[in-house]
Amino acid sequence: MRNIENSERDSLAFHKDVVKSKNVTKLDPDLKTRLIALDDDIKLLYNNYRKNFDDNCLEKTVSKSFADNNKNDLLSLYSYKSKLIQNLKTEITTTDTNRIINTCQNCTLSEINSFDHILPKEEFSEFVVNPLNLFPSCSICNSYKGKFWNDKGRKIYLNLYLDRLPELQYLFVDIEFEKSTFGLKFYLDNRFGINPELFSLIESHYKKLHLLERFSDNGDKVISPLINQIIPHLKQLDLNTIKENTIETSNLNRKVFGFNYWESILQLNLIENEDFINYLYK
Ligand SMILES: [Zn+2]
Repeated sequence: MRNIENSERDSLAFHKDVVKSKNVTKLDPDLKTRLIALDDDIKLLYNNYRKNFDDNCLEKTVSKSFADNNKNDLLSLYSYKSKLIQNLKTEITTTDTNRIINTCQNCTLSEINSFDHILPKEEFSEFVVNPLNLFPSCSICNSYKGKFWNDKGRKIYLNLYLDRLPELQYLFVDIEFEKSTFGLKFYLDNRFGINPELFSLIESHYKKLHLLERFSDNGDKVISPLINQIIPHLKQLDLNTIKENTIETSNLNRKVFGFNYWESILQLNLIENEDFINYLYK
């Protein structure tokens, strides 16, 4: 899990571009006119969103609660497959080193195939295509999140544009080897003194998206490739060198995929695990 930089483009101009791109149909010839009529409201709302975004207090945003007809018009602006939204996705997921992140950073497990509306579109239809309100996500995370985004005014999910992830370890794993299989139990712990408020938000994010269970379920995506990567070297390299190489690679991956990247945390634990080492030399 890593932070992603938010889009730098003018949010209001993007909204207007999406409105402009809507096709006028015979069934609803006035759609564009009705949407343009909301422009003054949208401008004020977008300014307020930007202010709360800059102060990282989006949970204070109050919904305009547009009437149903306006709400439906606004919701019609969003389509994940549309060209403008796909361009936005490419922009946001391209790193400054020109890598394209195609894995959902809310979980680091599944591919991006949707945008999470940070303030849910059902409640905040005004921000349905606000680039700052759109975070690239997998459909699994998106469906776990649903419409619930705060608990009595406190946010319950990390906003990876804004909540800077600490360079301190908070994700750990216990490994149990039984009947030739590795049982994994991931857990969170604040033993390195992360700001308690941030740690509590991390806990909530991991819990609500079921990340610890999802990591455990995906464990073999890491275990088998690690075994297969090491086995060809067992004859030429001594165990210490193999360990050092594995540790170095895992730590390099943490720089790219996040300090608490679950695959690296698991690799680092496996390589120090006696049962795992015995398994390699079996
Ligand atoms: Zn996800």
